[in-house]
Amino acid sequence: MINPLLKKFNTKYTTAPFSQIKNEHFKPAFKEAIKIAKAEIDTITKNTNVPTFENTIEILEFSGKTLKRISSIFFNLNSAETNDQIQKIAQEVSPWLSEFANDIRLNEKLFKRVRLVFDIKDELNLTAEQDMLLNNQYKMFVRNGANLNDTDKSKLREIDKKLAKLSLQFGENVLAETNAFELHISDENQLKGLPEGAKEAAQLLAKQKEKQGWVFTLDYPSYIPFMTYIDDRSLREQMSNVFGARAFQNNKNDNQQIVLDIVKLRYERAKLLGYKTHAHFVLEERMAETPEKVMSFSNELLSKAKPAAEREFKQLTSFAQKDGIEQLQKWDSAYYSEKLKKELFELDQEALKPFFKLENVIDGVFTIANKLFELHFNEVDTIDKYHKEVKTYEVTNSNGDFIAVFYADFFPRKGKRNGAWMTSYKDQWKKDNENSRPHVSIVCNFTKPTETKPSLLTFNEVTTLFHEFGHALHGMLANTTYPSLSGTSVYWDFVELPSQLLENWCYEKEALDLFARHYETNEPIPMEMVQKIKDSSNFLEGIQTLRQLSFGLLDMSWHGGESPVIIKNVKDFETMAFADTQLYPDVAENCMSTAFSHIFQGGYSSGYYSYKWAEVLDADAFEHFKETGIFNKQTAKKFTENVLSQGGTEKPMLLYKRFRGKEPNSDALLKRAGLINKRG
Ligand SMILES: [Zn+2]
Repeated sequence: MINPLLKKFNTKYTTAPFSQIKNEHFKPAFKEAIKIAKAEIDTITKNTNVPTFENTIEILEFSGKTLKRISSIFFNLNSAETNDQIQKIAQEVSPWLSEFANDIRLNEKLFKRVRLVFDIKDELNLTAEQDMLLNNQYKMFVRNGANLNDTDKSKLREIDKKLAKLSLQFGENVLAETNAFELHISDENQLKGLPEGAKEAAQLLAKQKEKQGWVFTLDYPSYIPFMTYIDDRSLREQMSNVFGARAFQNNKNDNQQIVLDIVKLRYERAKLLGYKTHAHFVLEERMAETPEKVMSFSNELLSKAKPAAEREFKQLTSFAQKDGIEQLQKWDSAYYSEKLKKELFELDQEALKPFFKLENVIDGVFTIANKLFELHFNEVDTIDKYHKEVKTYEVTNSNGDFIAVFYADFFPRKGKRNGAWMTSYKDQWKKDNENSRPHVSIVCNFTKPTETKPSLLTFNEVTTLFHEFGHALHGMLANTTYPSLSGTSVYWDFVELPSQLLENWCYEKEALDLFARHYETNEPIPMEMVQKIKDSSNFLEGIQTLRQLSFGLLDMSWHGGESPVIIKNVKDFETMAFADTQLYPDVAENCMSTAFSHIFQGGYSSGYYSYKWAEVLDADAFEHFKETGIFNKQTAKKFTENVLSQGGTEKPMLLYKRFRGKEPNSDALLKRAGLINKRG
């Protein structure tokens, strides 16, 4: 029988033929698709004609199409509907894929041809999108050392090997330190303040460890409720201190030297490639562009948010004084924030849920997409799906043209990973007069319906749905020529703009009126409830902002400085970096950097600022909608034409300015968060 992954999909819109695919099809399909992709690359390198944009850049761009589709089907399933067999296949094929990617990156013949085109690009009359594509391809090679001499090339490989090992070790140490501690409590009196659910979880954990009583660990699901609710201050102090000392105890899991080695190697790598610092290297491919821009952005936000943060800190302190506390400490932060929030807002999350029946919220998000972007979502059962719970839609525009296939997979299952995400099964591209439309999917883990109740979402789940749907719109409305520049394939400090922007509609009466109705009485959500949601979402926003900025500034201090070689002491360096953002007294035995996995294990180095950056963007963009009306079609059209449809075809700042008429600034965010006077 022919492998269904390797023949042309004969499904409607050539969607993934899930019902025909068996697990045993994947490995042979991957092997064959890699072979096909290699042959496609060979047609470029074996071509004896002068390299041109068409015979080199475009062929490279459209090569590996089969491999990409198989990969997207396989890895999406591995996230949303996995099993032991699929996981085992993933472990086997992942090295094949990285080897193939490396073969391309290190292919000197291929690079030579790309460079020849790059060198004459000014004579080629390229469109902005073609210029971007050529630039990206060229950079893909040179950022991996293609322009270096052989000695430097091998130096670079050496550094990369060391860095890979160190990051892995860093993560393993944090994990070991996290797992090494547990707090065992046998006196129930010590649990005062803790909600029933968290108590049960701690009891279950104790049982699993064959212990009596309750066990708490440094894993977030255990640690966070503990720090938020436990009345016993000394217990919170103990827990906080152990958490903060992870990989900073001069034992075998210590990360201090590893941090110093990583920043030094990253710096050397950047220097080798001709960049001033590691941050310059990273930010070259970001909307922010330079460390200087990130620093001025952060410092500006800091100067505006700090007075508010100090005000809030005073408010929190005087609130805690009722308990006889003179100086707030780190271990009081979550606890008193929660208590004060409750006193100020009395927001009952449970009372909100009846107004957010899942079906109503889905209708709401579709109606909003219709009002803004003139899209129609038509649920169909003619599209093959990987699980019966998945909903499938045909998306069309106001002319009835087919725009996209949309999959939505809402409920938790064994085999689905946690969280919520948007992904795609097929990119959008244009070739040979065809505009090939995308297949987009969102996957969530929302509250399931029960026998007596439909799925009623928490407000947090509502904003999550809007968020993922915003990403999905970016994918569905894509209208570019090249797949690698299409939809959400943008610089990653720009990718959260559509998703976070869409969340704003969840707080607007005009939008809520469209769908937030009680599932039994059909009565609309009371506006005072909406106001409470708004106010409470801004609660202690100054302190939160300062905290986020402090992490971003620490990240930039490690990676944007010119001489990491001379840094000797991790804790001293960190204290210096935190100097402007500290509200709570420092704990000498604690260190953030030694457990800062985002930047030392994962890929967020020189990127932590992106969280705040994205907020500034979405608030500034939404301000434009508010100025013109949140359902203003012209504004929505400008957003589609300049942002949603454009993907990564041009630099994000250019695209944004075309939509907004000016560069983003932080005023809208500060206003929305109540950090500066609304009328000011
Ligand atoms: Zn997102």
